[in-house]
Amino acid sequence: MPQGNTLPNQTPSLSYWQRTTRSFPHLHANNTNPVPTSAKYVVIGSGIAGALTAFELLEAGVNAKEVVILEAREAAGGASSRNAGHVRPDAFRGFTAYSKVHGKEQALKIIANERLVLQKVDEFVNKHNVACDFHRTTTFDVCMTPEFAEYEAASFGAYRDAGGDVSHIKYYTGTEAHEKTKVPGAVAAYEWSAGSSHPAKLAQFLLTSAVERGVRLFTFCPAMTITQSSDARPGLWNVHTPRGTLTTEKVIHCTNAHAAFLLPLLDNYITPNRAQAHSLIPTAAFTGTNILQNTFSLRYSLHHFYSLIQRQADGTLILGVSRSNPTLSRETIDGQLTTDDSTYNGEIAQDALRSFGEIFPSYEPGALMHGEGLDHAWTGIIAMTADSVPFVGEVEAFLGQFVCAGFNGHGMARIFTCAPGIVKLVLGKQWEETGLPECFQISTERLGRLSSQAVPSVW
Ligand SMILES: Cc1cc2nc3c(=O)[nH]c(=O)nc-3n(C[C@H](O)[C@H](O)[C@H](O)COP(=O)(O)OP(=O)(O)OC[C@H]3O[C@@H](n4cnc5c(N)ncnc54)[C@H](O)[C@@H]3O)c2cc1C
Repeated sequence: MPQGNTLPNQTPSLSYWQRTTRSFPHLHANNTNPVPTSAKYVVIGSGIAGALTAFELLEAGVNAKEVVILEAREAAGGASSRNAGHVRPDAFRGFTAYSKVHGKEQALKIIANERLVLQKVDEFVNKHNVACDFHRTTTFDVCMTPEFAEYEAASFGAYRDAGGDVSHIKYYTGTEAHEKTKVPGAVAAYEWSAGSSHPAKLAQFLLTSAVERGVRLFTFCPAMTITQSSDARPGLWNVHTPRGTLTTEKVIHCTNAHAAFLLPLLDNYITPNRAQAHSLIPTAAFTGTNILQNTFSLRYSLHHFYSLIQRQADGTLILGVSRSNPTLSRETIDGQLTTDDSTYNGEIAQDALRSFGEIFPSYEPGALMHGEGLDHAWTGIIAMTADSVPFVGEVEAFLGQFVCAGFNGHGMARIFTCAPGIVKLVLGKQWEETGLPECFQISTERLGRLSSQAVPSVW
């Protein structure tokens, strides 16, 4: 199993989102310039976590000149510009699994936090008029097998019985499930509020706003090591890059799947996995007024599912695939344990297209006209953590270094509370003021616990 102690590879594939935003003016910002010798805050990583962290620092009154963002690739070149476009809170499904790992109280907080994130993204996009094709709608968890319908029902019941709010969740079976979801094979379906966005445009908005206010972004500039400064002032860190060394008071690691490269203490607890998504040009059944208004998680089992959104802006379908779909060959599943996102896997693409055609027979995959069907396939690296929740907070062993990473392929439903939370901590506030579930906090105690016990995966 690969460890997370690698830098992002330098020949990544381009996603649908990246291919449609190549004119972003800061894409290659400062790609040859030397870094300054000092800055009070150094954010490492320019994905949505790093970009929102920089944005929130400025919102909190930090002088933009004191903030530097280092990015190993082009701007927002990691998972944030490669995902499946869902801003989709878990409404109850993860409750059972989270409860086993973190206890019921934390599991309730984890789910409540995801709902809050959707609200925060919605408010943010509206407040700042962000042109990121955000589409607030409802989503369906579609149970494709009786076994999975039973699993969902048990999770729903457990969540409700523990006091979780289910008033916003609708449930359908039989003909009603088929009609609501347009999935003739649906055994049952749950519906709740969710959204989709063009994630690269969202990250680029955040970066533009930060850069235009004076934040310095250095692309193709990986942080290689961090050492204690020998400066007369204690508590400073030297961040070494190929284009010079920055001395700083606060380092904020927003490096997600690659966090352990600079923080080896996370090596066994953040595992990079490759995830794959596809863009499809729809057939007539999904064009014009037939465009899908809802988003979907189409589920055969906990680990075998497909995520689907249809972009309202241009009708493109974005189809994501679960990491360990059991219908795939062992070689393909094992091959996803990699940090190589320079290519995609053909077997996964075939499985995704075949399954999509089976789930939505009206797509008529056998009758595609030239130009319809698979448009593009790409991969990106997600960060699976040992206890399925992110690491947020100050690293006790390295005071002055903070981390906001480990989003378990689910960052769009988490970052909009975690990044504002890390900013509060960086600026000296207490954990309680972040409002985050306590189990997200990185602590020596948590790492010790993870090293001594095997925890079941939620995803
Ligand atoms: C195919 C796919 C589908 C997904 N679908 C969804 C979805 O539908 N919904 C959802 O919620 N989530 C989804 N995700 C996950 C989501 O994209 C991530 O959780 C989220 O983007 C993480 O954001 P981030 O800013 O933490 O990480 P990233 O966007 O990965 O940003 C980290 C950045 O740090 C940089 N970096 C790393 N190391 C260094 C270093 N040493 N020096 C400088 N820079 C460095 C990287 O290059 C990268 O740009 C998906 C991911 C993939 C790959």
